Amino acid sequence: MTQPQYRLPQKRNLVTTLPGPKSSELQGRRAMAVAGGVGSSVPVYAADADGGVIVDVDGNSLIDFGSGIAVTTVGAGNAAVAAAVAEQASHFTHTCFMVTPYEGYVAVAERLNHLTPGDHQKRTVLFNSGAEAVENAIKVARLATGRDAVVAFDHAYHGRTNLTMALTAKTMPYKYGFGPFAPEVYRIPMSYPYRDGLDGAEAAKRAISMMDKQIGGDQLAAIIIEPIQGEGGFIVPAPGFLPALADWARSNGIVFIADEVQSGFARTGAWFASDHEGIVPDLVTMAKGIAGGMPLSALTGRADLLDAVHAGGLGGTYGGNPVACAAALAAMDVMKDLDLPARARHIEELAGGRLRAMASVTPEIGEVRGRGAMLAIELVKPGGTEPNPELTKALVAACLGQGLVLLSCGTYGNVIRLLPPLVIDDALLNDGLDVLENALNDLTGR
Ligand SMILES: *Cc1c(COP(=O)(O)O)cnc(C)c1O
Repeated sequence: MTQPQYRLPQKRNLVTTLPGPKSSELQGRRAMAVAGGVGSSVPVYAADADGGVIVDVDGNSLIDFGSGIAVTTVGAGNAAVAAAVAEQASHFTHTCFMVTPYEGYVAVAERLNHLTPGDHQKRTVLFNSGAEAVENAIKVARLATGRDAVVAFDHAYHGRTNLTMALTAKTMPYKYGFGPFAPEVYRIPMSYPYRDGLDGAEAAKRAISMMDKQIGGDQLAAIIIEPIQGEGGFIVPAPGFLPALADWARSNGIVFIADEVQSGFARTGAWFASDHEGIVPDLVTMAKGIAGGMPLSALTGRADLLDAVHAGGLGGTYGGNPVACAAALAAMDVMKDLDLPARARHIEELAGGRLRAMASVTPEIGEVRGRGAMLAIELVKPGGTEPNPELTKALVAACLGQGLVLLSCGTYGNVIRLLPPLVIDDALLNDGLDVLENALNDLTGR
């Protein structure tokens, strides 16, 4: 196992208040040029990034606990990824795999067929975004089964295109005013141990009974689920929930789709979150962490399902772009060489331990949860479980003011999620956690 190398100092360093003057100037230009519908969590403009830091246009060095939403697992300025991108771009940037194919696409497909859960025959198709991979998973499931209905879960997030908006649970900001949505999508209760108090078997029984009574197992093309929910609040279903759903799907000829777009690629301490529960999905959707920040997504799964589709039924002009494929191969090599699944487990131990210590003295922390470097605290009003989005917002803002980029999530906007690059060093991770702890103590009057 090799150690990460850094180009930039791995230190938090503020030289202006945030946002600094250059970021503020860019924010002014942006307001006149960029569509208002695009939000940004942080009004600070990036100039450089490496390892666990993002350096802004004013020269401030910020700690990155977001990884560009779980994307830059190997670091945002990874040298091996940058070299692979430069090398491929110096030869060709595009031919279109559907016109003149190239090896990189095939190599990524081979790699994903090997890495994803299960040792059955698999096939892979590449796209550009997570939403596109999800849409195509549903297309494949419908064609292969000849059925229409699709089940998604409470708190689910699957994207912002029309079909994936229908699959996504939360209206504001993802769906509000953007309907009508795609038909034949049914929503079923998720296992959310903190809020429903059910064990895995009980939650599965509730979900299966609803699917059986309201849709009918023989009408269902697919069940799509995030093995650990991302935007919905880093909800880890109770043990046994996922295997019970997967078993029921199998016995009813339903395609079981694991949306690993956020949880995949070493993030949770295994290559895929499905691995923790030993489930073998029929189809797996992947994106975010796959290619060191380059836009690439994938759908991998049972050969009989993916080969059921007629030639030309799947694809897209840019899908599996050669530069993105080169980046993916390099990023996956880095994950292996640095044993990033082990690194994620180490982060879980270090950061999870500190978060639990904070929770023991902070009644506003309702729950600490997550796996690997996909960790969260759910913030509530003391003495109960009522969500505390105000504190969540204030905490994110206070941390940013101290140079820590932190993301929130959750249906109720009350979850702080930790998604540091897996190459972050312990000193920087601890400094970020110090910032978080101090801000939380300030805001809760301790
Ligand atoms: C982010 C995300 C998506 C959508 O990916 P995009 O690349 O933004 O289209 C889908 N599913 C999950 C679980 C995600 O976290």
